[in-house]
Amino acid sequence: MKVKVISVLEDNYMYLIIEEHTREAVAVDVAVPKRLLEIAGREGVSLTTVLTTHHHWDHTRGNAELVHLQPGLAVMGADERICALTRRLAHGEELQFGAIHVRCLLTPGHTSGHMCYFLWEDECPDPPALFSGDALSVAGCGWHLEDTAQQMYQSLTKTLGTLPPQTKVFCGHEHTLSNLEFAQKVEPCNNHVRAKLSWAQVRGTMMTYLPCLRHWARSSCTTLS
Ligand SMILES: [Zn+2]
Repeated sequence: MKVKVISVLEDNYMYLIIEEHTREAVAVDVAVPKRLLEIAGREGVSLTTVLTTHHHWDHTRGNAELVHLQPGLAVMGADERICALTRRLAHGEELQFGAIHVRCLLTPGHTSGHMCYFLWEDECPDPPALFSGDALSVAGCGWHLEDTAQQMYQSLTKTLGTLPPQTKVFCGHEHTLSNLEFAQKVEPCNNHVRAKLSWAQVRGTMMTYLPCLRHWARSSCTTLS
């Protein structure tokens, strides 16, 4: 599995996931469709599916244009409000793209129909990956806009918190520095926060220049551990 991390809009991430044997590709949260198709064309892959984490415009605004440019594309998500949706997914549902397995994890809190996608490949040394939208970012999470804090807590601690600790998290926004700066104000003596903030400050200058990185060596993902 190869993941292309594509920085879009002010601080969003759009992703292109490539099954390296079949050259099938799946996109996550399409905001800028022409750019996505350019990258898919350069990679020589066949884009078949869009996985959408939630209905907010900065995660779905490209769906209609993408379907217009590439008719027949499957647009999946858990919320009827997602633009150009062709298939509504349920919690726990599993999908497969060649060797890539996808488990759909409903994570209400930010929105009532927020879905995270947990991906893994059988017999592959790469760790599994989580595409977390606005449910979980590096050192933070999205506002709970449509559900209670208790539901969000359940989503973060039970649904996502019990995934394997080596899982790599690909989030919907680049908020790492601001999240950690806030965390340091709240907990000035927390050594984990201090160390992660130093890590982010070093990488912060690189993020603008490295939108596409191979496998797991990237600045925009972190682990659950
Ligand atoms: Zn959102």
